[in-house]
Amino acid sequence: MQRAYRASLLWFAEPDSGPEGIRFEEDGLLVVGPDVHGQQVVQAIGSWHALSAQYSRLAVEHLPGRIIAPGFVDMHVHFPQTHVIGSPAAGLLPWLENYTFPEEQRFADPAYAADAATFFVDELLRNGVTTALAFATSHSSSVDALFAQARARHMRLITGLCLMDRHAPAALLNQPGQGTSAAEQSILESEALIQRWHGQDRLGYAITPRFAPTSTDAQLRGAGELAARYPDVWIQSHVAENKDEIAWARELFPKSSSYLATYADFGLLRERSVYAHCIHFDDADRALMRESGAVAAISPTSNLFLGSGFFDYAGADRVGFGYGLASDVGGGTSFSPFHTMLAAYYVGREGHTKTGLSLTPRQLWWQHTAGAARALGLDGVVGNLLPGCEADFIVLNPQATPLLARKTALCASLDELLFSFIVLGDDRAVERTVIAGAQ
Ligand SMILES: [Zn+2]
Repeated sequence: MQRAYRASLLWFAEPDSGPEGIRFEEDGLLVVGPDVHGQQVVQAIGSWHALSAQYSRLAVEHLPGRIIAPGFVDMHVHFPQTHVIGSPAAGLLPWLENYTFPEEQRFADPAYAADAATFFVDELLRNGVTTALAFATSHSSSVDALFAQARARHMRLITGLCLMDRHAPAALLNQPGQGTSAAEQSILESEALIQRWHGQDRLGYAITPRFAPTSTDAQLRGAGELAARYPDVWIQSHVAENKDEIAWARELFPKSSSYLATYADFGLLRERSVYAHCIHFDDADRALMRESGAVAAISPTSNLFLGSGFFDYAGADRVGFGYGLASDVGGGTSFSPFHTMLAAYYVGREGHTKTGLSLTPRQLWWQHTAGAARALGLDGVVGNLLPGCEADFIVLNPQATPLLARKTALCASLDELLFSFIVLGDDRAVERTVIAGAQ
């Protein structure tokens, strides 16, 4: 069935132009309907004036004063850390030990995981996030719980079994099977999950080593071999977040030329591999990212919260590797893409003082929508509203709060409007989230 919406529209009309291809149509028409596979996609987008005659037989939902925009893409978030948000800690390693590891142990209970998955997906959608690449825990049941919830909403979501067979509490380590080591068993379980979930409906699987220090060589080798056997499956992990973590990784893998190179040495850097943070890189690391096709999930609220450092946008652009934005809940402090974009602006400001680079509102928005989709290899699938894109979108209300209403009424340019949402917006600004054309 086709649906049509009349509202202001925001999208990237020329995605090859990156953030500069952004377009705002004050009085627009968006038409969604099934493609040949029955998937709800955008069929037309443009000005009401240009398109309305062509679609005059459709009942049009009129949303005066509202803005329809692409759903946000969160490139890195931990579903089992929803309750860990806002936990005080001296830095990454004590934060893991005191809060994150104890909470993740609770996900061994399928009922606990199912309840958390329901809340997590609700929270993503309430904040306008329609696609996420998420960590689960080291329990297969946590992966099943999140996939089941996402499928129930018909949502595009990627997750995978967390691989960790050392240096964490015993209850959180992958367990050995009958006649198999923990490393072997974790790879067998990952493969079973790929076969159960990858490509089902809109779901995708990600091979998920937590980070190199919590995996043995055998587990990382197994993960790399699995990644080679399933090239369209994603890989997700963490790298170069914190200096203590880097020192630890260098001690554990002294043969690799850098922490990032450790992943390359085990076959874990390729297209569709997404590394959170990527803060403390040198140009050799940046070149390795570019040459392998791996991308960074920049997690600014988390990096500011844990004092990890500032992602070097200028360095990334100079060498030319891909990236997009991520909440990194629960090291991150908010599910809201507006909060993440504002934090990325602060991070860009830090770079600005050294390099002259700062981030424009349209760059920030791109990094959390079409740019993030491109980094994930989902260009033209999500994160935009061009014809053929899956019909995931949000309805924004510029009058959601008294201050946002006053501010947006005064905006004289698109960048001013976008920045008003970035600075003042939160879940209240997202009036509705539409997944695959469904209300
Ligand atoms: Zn993370």
